[in-house]
Amino acid sequence: MAMRRRTLLKVIVLGDSGVGKTSLMNQYVNKRFSLQYKATIGADFVTKELQIDDRHVTLQVWDTAGQERFQSLGVSFYRGADCCVLVYDVNVGKSFESLNNWYEDFLKQANPSDHSSFPFILLGNKVDIDGGNSRVVSEKKAKDWCASKGNISYFETSAKEDYNVDAAFLCAAKSALANE
Ligand code: GDP
Ligand code: MG
Repeated sequence: MAMRRRTLLKVIVLGDSGVGKTSLMNQYVNKRFSLQYKATIGADFVTKELQIDDRHVTLQVWDTAGQERFQSLGVSFYRGADCCVLVYDVNVGKSFESLNNWYEDFLKQANPSDHSSFPFILLGNKVDIDGGNSRVVSEKKAKDWCASKGNISYFETSAKEDYNVDAAFLCAAKSALANE
């Protein structure tokens, strides 16, 4: 059998506590969702095998264990990241305002070789809630933020309804691959 090169890509997911980071990952990898507060995956990361064009890719998605609330995430969390997925809750203004901090924190901690070209993806999660009537951050505001940082891709998602979850992580994987 011919040897095929398998590419390992590390994606980290950052954002305020409660925005749905763990739920998005759980939906993506396990096709499961729970409304029970504080879903935990119980591991530092989950993996998913992908085929992108002719490449075999192992996507390693790193989750926080909730320590984003009160302490820094530690150097091993950031080390070697190939893409950073930022998440906010479209119904919680504070989670959007925190994005600058998460963005800056990532660049400081991970310190990728080229800060301006490093791939970030932004997810506006929980668009299902109240049929969108309780949202406080508009799609335009989010896209303007993305544009202000360079060219960050933006997805509106629902971990609950499995809306745009695959598309968002596929984009993260492709961006990571393109940045190799
Ligand atoms: P984390 O702290 O960022 O990891 O957030 P969690 O994944 O633990 O989610 C926090 C809470 O929000 C949980 O009760 C989830 O069930 C809920 N949640 C997460 N994503 C969604 C979503 O897309 N829609 C709705 N309605 N609830 C969500
Ligand atoms: Mg979590």
